[in-house]
Amino acid sequence: MKKLLICALATLLCLPVFSQKKAKGAPVSPPARIAKNIILLIGDGMGLTHISAGMYFNNNQSNFERFPVAGLQKAYSASDLITDSAAGATAFASGIKTYNGAIGVNTDSMPVKTILEEAEERGLATGMVVTSTLTHATPASFVAHVRNRKFDEEIATFFLKTEIDFLAGGGKKFFEQRAADGRNLYQELKDKGYQVSDFAQKNASSLAPDPSKNFIYFSADADPAKASEGRTYLAPLSVLAANHLKKRSEKGFFLMIEGSQIDWGGHANESDYIVSEVVDFDQTIGKVLDFAAADGETLVIVTADHETGGYAISPGSELGKIRGAFTTTGHTAQMIPVFAFGPGAELFAGVYENTAIYTKMKQVLGF
Ligand code: MG
Ligand code: ZN
Repeated sequence: MKKLLICALATLLCLPVFSQKKAKGAPVSPPARIAKNIILLIGDGMGLTHISAGMYFNNNQSNFERFPVAGLQKAYSASDLITDSAAGATAFASGIKTYNGAIGVNTDSMPVKTILEEAEERGLATGMVVTSTLTHATPASFVAHVRNRKFDEEIATFFLKTEIDFLAGGGKKFFEQRAADGRNLYQELKDKGYQVSDFAQKNASSLAPDPSKNFIYFSADADPAKASEGRTYLAPLSVLAANHLKKRSEKGFFLMIEGSQIDWGGHANESDYIVSEVVDFDQTIGKVLDFAAADGETLVIVTADHETGGYAISPGSELGKIRGAFTTTGHTAQMIPVFAFGPGAELFAGVYENTAIYTKMKQVLGF
């Protein structure tokens, strides 16, 4: 009896070892793709109050209500409880916590591969549409690897190293009027075969990307205008980008869209600035959700890198009239909402680190 038991135990204990051995030589099949495309929308500095203010200003209507799944992420960086946009975007792009100011590098200032670069390597199309300069911390962290976010000219050079299929944003001067090396990256991109244009030649509403080419549109020489000053390109160019990327690769695409100036309204402690930028971002989300609903293979994620302003909706506020109050002209450490729609959305429920956005996106794309 005892012998039998030992035998049985040995069999049980040994079985997994044998089966593991057997599996070893077998070809490893790649993980299944849950979604073909991902559109990641980042509202820079957009805390829950910013979203609420935009919604209540807009007569209690919001495209955020169309998301079936919501979660919360912890945005702190490796160096600070209160992150900046560089460390925040690097967490989404590369899945690591790094120091404030770091663009696509780890705490040892060593480059870390980004999800956009991984997508390019695997033959997916990629794109970014932002309302800041293209060299600003958030978009920079998806393509560049520099130890300080202030190095705009150095960051610009990285746009020639990655084959991004669609780019729209400001900061033309960092490509064209360069103090450091005198290079004309605008011309270099053209020479590389990119379809390049800018605000001085073409209105954002009249753009027609050639599906056979990578496309870049500079929306401003430096920072793009505020939404309240008539900047209206984020929603239409986001849709244009999604449609262009769909034509660029049969394997799928990764698109990052940033409502960059929600953060700037927070830094300025201007409630009206925040609200108009959130409303613009919300309209963009609406158009993106329409695209994803029709497409059926696109996961849409909306989140922020951090909260800005310690923003609160104060007594005296009503629908259509927001009275804002602030605790700081900087960022705060509150947890940040995440919204998801489409295949794989359920993975984004719960409470997790900001780095998990990267891990979950990779899981969804089967990388
Ligand atoms: Mg930003
Ligand atoms: Zn900021």
